[in-house]
Formats: sequence, C-alpha cells, structure tokens
Amino acid sequence: MNQLTLAADLISRDIQPVKIKSKTAQSAYLDKRVTKSQRENQRTRSQRARERLQTKEHLSRLAVGLGEVELAHKIDRCHSRLSVLTCGRHIARIIPNFTCEFRLCPDCGRRRSRRLQNKYLPMMNGFMLHNKVTPVHLVLTQTHKKESRKQSAKRIRDAFTKLQRREFWKKHFKGGTWSLEFAKDKNGLHHTHLHIIGFRRRFFAVELLRSEWLAVTGDSHVLHLKPILDLAAGLREVVKYVSKPLDIRRFGAADLKEFLELKNMRMFGTFGEFRDFCKDFEPSDNEAAAVSELESLARDLVEGCACPQCNQPLFDLRMSKGELPQFYEQMESSPPGEARGS
Ligand SMILES: [Zn+2]
Ligand SMILES: [Zn+2]
Repeated sequence: MNQLTLAADLISRDIQPVKIKSKTAQSAYLDKRVTKSQRENQRTRSQRARERLQTKEHLSRLAVGLGEVELAHKIDRCHSRLSVLTCGRHIARIIPNFTCEFRLCPDCGRRRSRRLQNKYLPMMNGFMLHNKVTPVHLVLTQTHKKESRKQSAKRIRDAFTKLQRREFWKKHFKGGTWSLEFAKDKNGLHHTHLHIIGFRRRFFAVELLRSEWLAVTGDSHVLHLKPILDLAAGLREVVKYVSKPLDIRRFGAADLKEFLELKNMRMFGTFGEFRDFCKDFEPSDNEAAAVSELESLARDLVEGCACPQCNQPLFDLRMSKGELPQFYEQMESSPPGEARGS
C-alpha cells in the first residue's frame, strides 16, 4: 500500500463522509459471521447511530439494576452533547462533551478500534515489506461449555498458546494479532472465538491446521480461514471485536455483572515475530509525516474551514445525542449534489 492509499484510509474514518460508499466485493467470505458484519456495514449511518443510542440506554438500565449507579451516570453522560462540525452534507468532525471509556460503550469502542487501526496498520504494512508473508484471517472456535466467560476465554487462549509452540504453526506462521469475541448459545453455554490476523509464511491445506487445533483443544477442530486481500479492511474486521466483543442486545444483568468482573482481561494483542517487530517499529519519516499530517488535519478543522469532502465552509452545530441520528437522516435524504444551508 502506498502513502496515498494509507492516507485516504486514515482520513476516511476520521472525516466520516456521509455519502454511502458502494463497497466493492473483497473476497468470497466463507464465514457466516463475516456476512453478518457486511450486513451491518450496509445499514445507514442514522440506523447505526440510533442503535448505539439504544445500546447505551440498555447498558445504563442494566447498570442501575445492578446498583452500579456511577457507571450508569457515566454512560448517560457519554456523548450526550455534541459539537458537530459540518458543511450540511458531510460531517468533518464530532466532538463529544464527555467520553465514558467503558469497554462496552459503542461510542467509546468505535474510537478505541480506530486508534488500534491507526496504530497497527502502518506496522502491519512494515512487517509485510520486511517479510515474505501473506495475511490471513483465522477464526479459532471452541466447544460450548457450562463455564464462566472468563474460563471460556482462558480455555481458548491456553489452546492458542499450545498451538503456537507446535512445529506446524512455527513453520507456517510468522506472528500476527489476535482479538476475542464472546458468544453465548441459546442454552446459555459460553464459547469464545479467537480472531487472528496471521502472517502466513507458506500455503498449507486447511485440514492440517484443523487437526492441529483438535490436538491442542482435545475437542474442537472448527476454524475458518480466508486470505486477506485488503489489509486495512481485514484489520478493521478484526478490531471490530475490541469495540463489540459480544452481542449487547441480548445482554442481561447477569451478563453485565460477569463482564464487569473481566475488567482487566486483554481483548487484543500481538504474537510471534510480529510482536517483536511492533516493539522496535519506528515509522519511516514519510510514514510518520503522513499519519501526523492527517491526524492534525482532522484536529485542526474549525468553523469556517473548507469541508475536506466538498470544500463548502464548515459550521459548528451543537446538538444533543438524540438529535444526531435525525441529523444523519436529513443528510441521507437530501439529494446528492445539493448543499443544505445552515
Ligand atoms: Zn462511552
Ligand atoms: Zn462537505
């Protein structure tokens, strides 16, 4: 990836064009959960903003029910008033009054996963430049068991540690990143998925990896493997679980209680040679300049600046959290090319 595409990628997520991009089909995804996320991407911004509001209201109610009044108060305050820098057709920047930083907060999660993407994408590109490897998205699964979420996560991470010590793995993978996705089936049994971006040294038959996984888990051979054609999209897919480690709509008070007990559990990490590479990584001057220029570009935008999408002047709109989905809706329904006045 050259500087320009990296630049465009960084900017597109900070600037949030409202125009709905037609997504080009990236690869034939075999994994049905990936299809689910593609469906999620097809929802409009207003729908997604409304869902984030509902999720936060739900979380806040559950927190009150558990006597976690302070947490509920924080969630209520988070993004409750917004300063929206807009030309009327695009949103250049949203500045919230307060951020709760709660792990399950969808607004804070989005910011966290954007930070991870901005941090790791240059390192992944650098790693691939220095090594002859191809990135793959690997999802390792486990059997459903009657155990706590914490035990389930430990079970899959321990199995992954064992897998990494095996000759087969060392021969075929040179490191990567992992993140956790929690799930619970309709019988209330937990299972955790490990989403891995693995840097593959050489091709192998997936059946071989299945039998390796069965050897370390003792009872699971189920995994999904697909090549990553677009590294930025692949990384976005994987860090999504850092902001959304589980399905909150089907989340009850007991789930929240259990999740609060996971407080210090890591949800994302690096492994293998990629881990060492990240420790020593220093972006080249060009890369560092490209990133900081973009970051400051979004940060430096103020009222009166030109919209990065259409050059119309930006103005500052103050709104409450409930008004944001409506604002997106207005923009979605305005005909393309026609700028809305303030
Ligand atoms: Zn928040
Ligand atoms: Zn604009």
